[in-house]
Amino acid sequence: MIDYQNILNTINQSVRQEKDKGKIASYIPELANVDINNFGVHLQLISGEQYAVGNSQQLFSIQSISKVLSLALAMSQMGTAIWKRLDVEPSGNPFNHLSLLELEKGLPRNPFINSGAIVIADILVSNLENPKTDFLNYVRDITGDNSINYNLKVTQSEKETGFKNYAAANLLKSFNNLNNDVEVVLDFYFHQCALEMSCAQLSKAFYLFANKGECLASKGRLTKSQAKRINAIMLTCGFYDEAGEFAFEVGLPGKSGVGGGIVALLPNEFVISVWSPGLNERGNSKLGMQALEQFTTLANQSIF
Ligand code: GLU
Repeated sequence: MIDYQNILNTINQSVRQEKDKGKIASYIPELANVDINNFGVHLQLISGEQYAVGNSQQLFSIQSISKVLSLALAMSQMGTAIWKRLDVEPSGNPFNHLSLLELEKGLPRNPFINSGAIVIADILVSNLENPKTDFLNYVRDITGDNSINYNLKVTQSEKETGFKNYAAANLLKSFNNLNNDVEVVLDFYFHQCALEMSCAQLSKAFYLFANKGECLASKGRLTKSQAKRINAIMLTCGFYDEAGEFAFEVGLPGKSGVGGGIVALLPNEFVISVWSPGLNERGNSKLGMQALEQFTTLANQSIF
């Protein structure tokens, strides 16, 4: 038996001693209002047990982690048709990079860079009756938690400063890869990024990806094959231009966000969520990555 609580306590102790905690994202001004000393981990085993340490119940802005949830909803609604509008190759570029999108004629490299997530947002806006409410209900449903909500201050802050996202959406529109109005699609995209969740809630939301598409809280929402494919995209594209480094150091599929959260999972075994708001130069949580490296090393568990 692995003593998970002991491992999490050890990680908490070692990580909290780090002097360099990285830098909080400030390009979205509202995100800067967070204490850099926050650090939390929540581990959800597929068998049901849970372990936690630090600020694991505190809400934070999940940002790009939401891109996995919007992809899951789009795949469950539209199936493989979505792949006509975007690819599944790592970009090796920052999340908001634009020149590749122009070079590749408006076909985003993958659903986790901003242009790809904006295409997924467009698909959901076309397919959902009340896009923002329906997406929020989907996240609440797979998590089994009706308290989850958007932080509208963060949405507004992104709207006021999201110049590159406006550029990406306009570029997509010029290549006929955006069916709805730029404003409408970005309004949805800025809301999804502004979802606030805790590590404990994220572990529950991502349970279905580790459990062959079956949720912890409600009836299954993805096929086994869809869960497999989403995990593959997380492994290859989940960490901006640091996906290789994350696979090398941690060895799990996962997704990060500029709010400092990271969710990673080992299929059939567990989901682990960490939060530490300070980011490294590539936009991933500095101590979060460190914590996950320690976790897979100490627990001796990874996909490799
Ligand atoms: N809402 C953020 C943006 O579009 C997401 C960035 C991220 O977490 O990668 O810039």
